[in-house]
Amino acid sequence: MRAKLTLAFAGIFGATLIIFSVILYSIFANQSRDELDSVLLAVASSVSETIKETGIKTEILDQIEDINVPFTYASWEYIEIMDASGNIIIRSEELAADSLTISPDVREEVMKGNEVYRTVTVPSEDNLWDENGVRLIYHPAAHAKEKYIVVAAVPLSNVENQLSNLRLLFYFAIPFTILFSAVVGWLFSRRAYTPVKQLIAALESITAQNLSARLPVNPSGDEIARLAGELNKMIDRLENSFKVLKQFTSDASHELKTPLTILRGEIEVTLQKARTKDEYQSVLRDNLEEVSRLQSIVEGLLMLSKLETDRIILQKERVNLNEVVTDAVSKMSALASRKRIRIKVVVGQTFLTVIGDQKKLTNVFINLLDNAIKYSDEGSEILCTVGGNSEKAEVTIRDRGPGIPESELEKIFERFYRTDSSRTRGDSFSLGLGLSIARAVVESHRGKITVRSKAGEGSEFIVSLPIIIPP
Ligand code: ADP
Repeated sequence: MRAKLTLAFAGIFGATLIIFSVILYSIFANQSRDELDSVLLAVASSVSETIKETGIKTEILDQIEDINVPFTYASWEYIEIMDASGNIIIRSEELAADSLTISPDVREEVMKGNEVYRTVTVPSEDNLWDENGVRLIYHPAAHAKEKYIVVAAVPLSNVENQLSNLRLLFYFAIPFTILFSAVVGWLFSRRAYTPVKQLIAALESITAQNLSARLPVNPSGDEIARLAGELNKMIDRLENSFKVLKQFTSDASHELKTPLTILRGEIEVTLQKARTKDEYQSVLRDNLEEVSRLQSIVEGLLMLSKLETDRIILQKERVNLNEVVTDAVSKMSALASRKRIRIKVVVGQTFLTVIGDQKKLTNVFINLLDNAIKYSDEGSEILCTVGGNSEKAEVTIRDRGPGIPESELEKIFERFYRTDSSRTRGDSFSLGLGLSIARAVVESHRGKITVRSKAGEGSEFIVSLPIIIPP
């Protein structure tokens, strides 16, 4: 990541620098060459002007020598004056062995009154210019009726040397600057990535066995700090899930162990000697009870796990809540009458319709009624009401049983949780799963199940469900 970032940084910086340098160089080169041309034009026009006024005289060049054109790159200009046919009449002394000639097409153009620029690279006999050659201007001039051609020349070496120096500077400076930027980028990215590296190291040290550890959150509140904060929240949730899972596994194995141990003990004792048919039957009946318990535990757990992982497919249909409750009550009335318990039902005048799974909702109320009957004293009364408002339906089941201590009100919805009083009742079919399943079913219907109770004053379970047709 760091290398990629550095490469990208240096690459972008390098490309920008190269483009910038190329543009800068070409602007500079054009400007220098234009400047050279304007010097030539100034010199040639000044000579032409002199010719026009005074005609061709030998002193003319001395006059020209005085022309002072401010120019950075040309230390010296050479002058030639030709007649209309291109024969040299006068020329700078320095041009001893060299002569600047004119081609017929250039001569024709100058005769028309236009100046013409040319670059000549023929080597100089007297080393007046190097391989860069000279820049020339052919300029028209006239005196009386005679036409002349003024040729001014400036060696290109100064300009070209300046330009090649500039190129050289770029050739060294650009790679060096790119290298420098890469090094700076590398160091900078190291600084920027240090907190990420620390985060990775801290994350690597957190394992399933070490979920209580948290990532350090720096107080700057930057993105890294926020990331660490969010990861910590995620680890919180993971730790919680792990705890629940661990608890669940140990509870489940514990619950399964008891009936299995009883089963095994009964079978071993029975097999110690020959038994009568009645004895075998009695043992098998006991065995069946334990097997049923095991089956209930396994079924309950399976149901819970399906509900909690949303793997259960709820039959979503319109359900009349009054009907569901009266159905559950009628199914439990036989059990209630065995303990001489009266179940009083108060249903609303209008139908309360919810969307849900009729069978599973009925089971929720059966379960609550079963608990109410189980924990009520003989001859007491259970009150079951169905009501609601424009948003939700509410079913309450109230008993006059022993109630639930406040400290245990939330715990009773946990898997395998049973209050001490229910354990001491020695009810072998009290699994502590009924309320967890009821809560999971109600919640999968986007509803809520709560309990209000005081030890010694009975309990009231309230199931509220969102409704689609208000009363
Ligand atoms: P189970 O009834 O099989 O033990 P539940 O999950 O239905 O399991 O209930 C969990 C615990 O909540 C029960 O063991 C009991 O201690 C307590 N409980 C539930 N309903 C009542 C009630 N109506 N009155 C008193 N205690 C109750």
